[in-house]
Amino acid sequence: MERETEKRVVIIGGGVAGSLLAKSLQFQSHLTLIDPKEYFEIPWASLRALVEPTFAERILSNHRDYFKKGELVVSSAVSISETEVVTEDGTRVTYDYLVIATGHSDPLPKTRAERLQQYKQGNEKIKSSNSILIVGGGPTGVELAAEIAVDFPEKKVTIVHKGSRLLEYIGTKASRKTLKWLKSKKVDVKLEQSVELDNNDDNNNSKIYETSSGERIEADSHFVCVGKPVGSAWLRETILKDDLDDEGRIKVDEYLRVKGKTNIFATGDITDVKEIKQGMFAHAHGLLVAKNLKVLIEGGGGKEQKLGTYKAQAPMSIVSLGRKSGVAQFPFMTILGRFPGMIKSGDLFVGKKRKELGLTP
Ligand SMILES: Cc1cc2nc3c(=O)[nH]c(=O)nc-3n(C[C@H](O)[C@H](O)[C@H](O)COP(=O)(O)OP(=O)(O)OC[C@H]3O[C@@H](n4cnc5c(N)ncnc54)[C@H](O)[C@@H]3O)c2cc1C
Repeated sequence: MERETEKRVVIIGGGVAGSLLAKSLQFQSHLTLIDPKEYFEIPWASLRALVEPTFAERILSNHRDYFKKGELVVSSAVSISETEVVTEDGTRVTYDYLVIATGHSDPLPKTRAERLQQYKQGNEKIKSSNSILIVGGGPTGVELAAEIAVDFPEKKVTIVHKGSRLLEYIGTKASRKTLKWLKSKKVDVKLEQSVELDNNDDNNNSKIYETSSGERIEADSHFVCVGKPVGSAWLRETILKDDLDDEGRIKVDEYLRVKGKTNIFATGDITDVKEIKQGMFAHAHGLLVAKNLKVLIEGGGGKEQKLGTYKAQAPMSIVSLGRKSGVAQFPFMTILGRFPGMIKSGDLFVGKKRKELGLTP
């Protein structure tokens, strides 16, 4: 197909859903991928990369390694109109079809080399600390505490979490089992408390962190593992300003199209689909939108009837607990131990994800 006659598809966000879409649609359209980073990162493997920095080599892939044909704009989208996207560096990209896949807002360095360096520094911080405070007991805080407790059992790890239980995004059984497991690894968990990070006194080489209940925790370093805001603040002054729900998520229909728009889709964590926000679901969104865009691009009669629909998925999640264990919530049961560990914790689905992008596992 001649380039001039190809449909112009723009994908904003090169994360789990956006990278899959870019890989899938690059030869079917005139495609532009917009992302502030030059690389795709597998987010759920980031905590292993902190305890084992060489692992980061496999979780960071330059977009150009899987996205060979099409334009790559390395900048953040700052605005959209009915026909074009504007980025922070002033680039204007026109589109026939647009996909918004900006997930959660998590500013990361621009280059892969800088990101690798960050992991190295994080690893040095862990290695040089005898005691570590983790702020936040969601999946990120729990997985980091578990990685450190398993790989560095001599270090004192404390989690401070403001909620009444760990892993509040899934069921209470998973929280209870995880708490028990962490305690068995000597991780100290303080619930219903928070830490004001600006108010910490330096005490020689170690720091004293005071919690909201006045408890004092001594730790050589800390990691902040609290939830990130939805990546849609930049849409608030655009044509989609009325298409955001109270949490800033984009309202989509069953085809994952922005409600009321015929040529704008949204995928992954940014959508208001009523399911927990997970990479496996972002992946499923990406597959569906790729299919729907192919239907629309290829044209022909009855296009609308041929569009696939998405059904919100039941709550399901696996949280890895170090290299061999995990806690899994499936629709009808919650289990902790080696079985969920076998599914996720060894390679953290990194080989699988790399293969999906056409990279060596
Ligand atoms: C520690 C951790 C553990 C997890 N564990 C699991 C797990 O075990 N299983 C699972 O299924 N899921 C897991 N998840 C969740 C999973 O990673 C997310 O659900 C998934 O990444 C969402 O995909 P996405 O494509 O919507 O967004 P993301 O993957 O977050 O990608 C968003 C992309 O948009 C880009 N972007 C942001 N703003 C802009 C802008 N203005 N312009 C252009 N680009 C922009 C970002 O740079 C990024 O590349 C975990 C997440 C974390 C952080």
